[in-house]
This record gives sequence, C-alpha cells and structure tokens, in this order.
Amino acid sequence: MSLIVQKFGGTSVANAERICNVARIITDTYKAGHDVVAVLSAQGDTTDELIEKAAEINPNASKREMDMLLSTGEQVSCALCAMAIEALGYPVVSLTGWQAGFRTNSGYGNARIKRVQADRMRTELDKRRIVIVTGFQGINKLDDITTLGRGGSDTSAVAIAAVLGADLCQIYTDVDGIYTADPRLVPNARKLEEITFDEMLELASLGAQVLHNRSVEMAKRYNVNLEVLSSFSGQPGTKVKEVVQTMEKSYISGVAKDKNIARLALVGLQDTPGIAYKVFSLLARNHINVDIILQSIGRDSTKDISFTVSKGDMEQAQKLLEDNKSSIRFDHIDVSDNVAKVSIVGAGMVNNPGVAAKMFEALYNAGININMISTSEIKVSVLVHITDADRAVRVIHDRFYDEFNGER
Ligand code: ASP
Ligand code: MG
Repeated sequence: MSLIVQKFGGTSVANAERICNVARIITDTYKAGHDVVAVLSAQGDTTDELIEKAAEINPNASKREMDMLLSTGEQVSCALCAMAIEALGYPVVSLTGWQAGFRTNSGYGNARIKRVQADRMRTELDKRRIVIVTGFQGINKLDDITTLGRGGSDTSAVAIAAVLGADLCQIYTDVDGIYTADPRLVPNARKLEEITFDEMLELASLGAQVLHNRSVEMAKRYNVNLEVLSSFSGQPGTKVKEVVQTMEKSYISGVAKDKNIARLALVGLQDTPGIAYKVFSLLARNHINVDIILQSIGRDSTKDISFTVSKGDMEQAQKLLEDNKSSIRFDHIDVSDNVAKVSIVGAGMVNNPGVAAKMFEALYNAGININMISTSEIKVSVLVHITDADRAVRVIHDRFYDEFNGER
C-alpha cells in the first residue's frame, strides 16, 4: 500500500459532473488499496469571479480580506467533492488549509509555506479515511487566512506529498502531460513520458504554463515524484523526477517560447570598468529581473550592452536608466517589445556537442534572424522578432524531431 497525493485543477472540478468524475478517480485509487490525500482548486473561474466581486465593492480592498474571500473557492469544491465521495459510500473528510496544518509567512496574497503540521491528516489517514484538502491556502502567525498566489494549489499538493513522504504526487489537469512543444502550435509535438525537475523548471519559466513554478522547485528540493496527467482521458501522463531513464538516448525534451519579454539596448556606453555593474545593480535594486545579456566588443572607446526584461518591467527599466544617464553615461537607449525568446531544453545537452549549431541551422534555413543568444547547461535560447516566434518553434522542433524522447 502506498500514499498518493492527487491534485485537481479548476477545470477538473468545474461542475457537478466533473466533481463526480474526480470523486471516481479518488475512490478508484483508494479501492486499489492506497491512502489518498486529494488537493482541490476552486471550481472553474471561481477565483477570478471572486476577484471581480471584490472589485465591485472595494477596488482597494485589503489583502487580508482578499485572502479571506479567495480561500472560500477551494472550500466549496472540497466540500462538494467530499459529498460526492460520501454518496459513493467511502469514508472521507475535507479539511481547510489551516485544519490540514498549513502555516505560512504573513504575505497575504502570495504567502510562502513555512511548515505543514500534518498530525490531523495523519490521524485521518490512520482511520483509513480519504482526506480532501483545500489548495492554495494556510494561516499565518496571526491565525489569519493567507493564500499562496495564483495557481498555488500545485504547491499545496507538493508540500503535502513532501511532508507525508508520499510515493507519488499526481497533478490532474486538462492537458494529458508535458509536450515537446505547445501542441496547438506544433501538431506533431509528442507527449513526454518523463522529464527532469530542471528541465521542467526551465520549461515552466519559458511559458509552458502547466505547473506552478514553486511546486516544481519544492518537488526538486524534497525529491517528490510528480506526474502530470489529464482528469478526462484516463491515460498515463508525464512523470517529473530527478533523473529520467531515457536520458542517455535522448538529450532534448522540448522547445518553448516566451513572448512576454522586451529588449533594451544601451548604445554608446563608455568602455571603462564598472559600467555593467552600475547598470545591473541599478536594475537589481529596483527588483527588475534581467535575463539574456549581451555586451558588444568595445570600439572607439564605447560599447553597447543589450539585455532582456519581462514586458511589464520595460518602461520602468527604461526610465531608471534615463534618470541615471549622467552617472552611467551612454548615448541613447533602444527599446523593443517586438521580440520573443525561443528555447530548446534538454538535460542531456551537456554531453552532446552541436545542439546549438543544429538549432541555428534550422533558423538559418528558415530565414529567421537571431538577435541574441544565451546558453546554460540544459538550455539554448535565442531572441527573435515576435512575428517569427511561432515559425521558429516549428522549424526547431522539426529539426530535432528524431531526438525527442516522447511517445511516437
Ligand atoms: N484557485 C486558485 C487560482 O485560481 C488556486 C489554483 O487554482 O491553484 O489561482
Ligand atoms: Mg484556479
């Protein structure tokens, strides 16, 4: 007998019929002899609707009251699911975040989990009950309800799996796994059987919106085996773990794009030591994350530095630099948000030379110009014009098609 944590997202519990479907998945697992803790999100768009409701009454509502409100969505889905399981004749109890022992820091709206005091969950499991827990919430040291940030139920599930030492944490959603590329964009994209935590983190931050990033970080830290699968199809999904078996055979796991970025170029900087420090410490002090950085070779005692930030930070970054023009000293700033980052990710890349060359060749053959390049041990990213991004994903995916370890 093993302990399985199952998390069901908003679409999986959107209406009565789907809640009954989820109740069936949970009770089938229980029937097979496993202990089950299920973590549920709010039904469908409930969280968005609650945010709208609040705005009608007070657009500047305090974060404390927002959390009080938003936490109710998960209570509804959990109570309803427990009722569905009762109707099927199985022992079940639903618990709120605080009943399940989630203690967080005080950051209303985006709280971090400090610990999970799992005694109550353990007692219930010992009684052979199915335990249903509200995702996305806990309480802080004032005993106020806090929420974990949008999409936070994944993180709740992984935290429970870590604390209880679960054998598996299944994340049920409306897609049937992680794909080698967005299947809406690349029709022949394949579902991956397995992927490493590091690859998943890269893909998640590159805009493959399947798992909450914090949940993958936590799963990696506590070595929680994850599986992403569909609550509708009944098919096996994608396993996310530390090392994947097929890694020797294949070294590429996916192509992703990120359109939520902008590029800034500082043109005509003094070619003296300390300039890069001045530029990037200014941005860091103002909490602006910088991604790709490119510095040109100095000529005529000047140089250029280009870098990317997320779109939302573009204007602030530009203003900060303009405001500090006299101390940083540059000729002008060139800004563009007509850019996208396209990346290829694979844990086995380290041992396989030529991945970058192959990617550039695919882009060259398609006549796509590369603006910037950056690489890490498991990733090669290029910056291209936004109108080329989708085509870039397709041609790169085609070029590496035989390398992917997905199902054929
Ligand atoms: N219901 C919350 C949200 O929509 C949490 C979650 O779905 O994970 O963000
Ligand atoms: Mg939701």
